[in-house]
Amino acid sequence: MMDSDTPLDLVVLGSGMAGLAAATQASSGGLRLAIVDKGRRIGGRVSTRRADGFTFNHGAQFLTARQDGFISACDKAVAAGALQPWQVAGRDAYCGAPTMRDFPSFLGSGLDIRQGVEITGIERHDGLVALHRADGGTVTAHQAVITAPAPQAMRLLADVAPGLSAAAASAAYAPCWTAMFGFDSDMVPDIMPPIQNRTGPVGWAMWECHRPGPAAITGGALTVQAAPDWSADNLEEDPALVAKAILAAWQVASGLSMDAPAYQAAHRWRYARVTNPADAGTSPLSADGRIAVAGDWLAGARVEDAYMSGLRAVTALADAAG
Ligand SMILES: Cc1cc2nc3c(=O)[nH]c(=O)nc-3n(C[C@H](O)[C@H](O)[C@H](O)COP(=O)(O)OP(=O)(O)OC[C@H]3O[C@@H](n4cnc5c(N)ncnc54)[C@H](O)[C@@H]3O)c2cc1C
Repeated sequence: MMDSDTPLDLVVLGSGMAGLAAATQASSGGLRLAIVDKGRRIGGRVSTRRADGFTFNHGAQFLTARQDGFISACDKAVAAGALQPWQVAGRDAYCGAPTMRDFPSFLGSGLDIRQGVEITGIERHDGLVALHRADGGTVTAHQAVITAPAPQAMRLLADVAPGLSAAAASAAYAPCWTAMFGFDSDMVPDIMPPIQNRTGPVGWAMWECHRPGPAAITGGALTVQAAPDWSADNLEEDPALVAKAILAAWQVASGLSMDAPAYQAAHRWRYARVTNPADAGTSPLSADGRIAVAGDWLAGARVEDAYMSGLRAVTALADAAG
């Protein structure tokens, strides 16, 4: 279908929050569309890793909902049991139920989503937008929404939409090292609020089984995210050494002395949280009205910012199409 002669109305690059918002909005308008994403699973940086019987939410830890379009999406997800309130960050905070990825999975149900499809180039061709896949195929559509993180969007759009590419170049991110440890569940304390620090190797730490909800994650999975300063200073380090250093720092911060974990890994998020969004007033639309950009980098550092930018991108494309 992706290479059929009939172009799609819309192709969305990215199954993160911005792409899912864009696709949901466009499909409610009856457009024929597909999402393509190079990752193995839906959700982008709202992600969950399962390994050796442990479950880690190793990307976004929670989300907050303050704007109408996102509040209504969250309300529907709560009603469906895919999201649950979590007071950890205030009254408008939620986490996925039981995992963070359950929220994007809920948003994506019913949409045509192709994971494992990497786009290496974008061209205009015969009045259409052509997305070239790493495997040699092409996806064509009348319009496209590109939601890759800014450095990747900048490269993909350099020739086909130089104005949007320049906007992407103006955004900046902080990296984040996330370490994951699997312990014997008997060693997990009954109650332990998340550790939160602005600097150092332990920026956020929590036992996954301490998330709320009736279907909570079980087992001795501990997720520790380094703060931006430490993550940047150690960005090119070996993941095994990073996990070791973070574990040592967490033992000090928590005051807990544990046996060696049965599972241990570290994930490098090169583009984790936006520190500097694109210049204010940036139009999400290319000069010809065929390509729109979306993503947290247009608006802020949160899941909600990404989602709202996806809605705005589709509105801009619809306005351009008349
Ligand atoms: C460690 C960490 C902790 C965070 N904590 C929080 C938090 O607690 N609360 C909060 O609100 N936010 C948090 N965030 C930020 C939040 O996760 C992001 O702002 C949001 O998820 C970004 O969504 P997005 O759709 O803009 O981008 P992404 O989720 O990055 O989605 C972009 C998608 O594009 C795909 N893609 C990129 N290039 C290509 C290509 N060439 N071909 C095909 N597909 C491609 C990627 O695979 C990805 O799935 C955190 C982020 C990280 C990493």
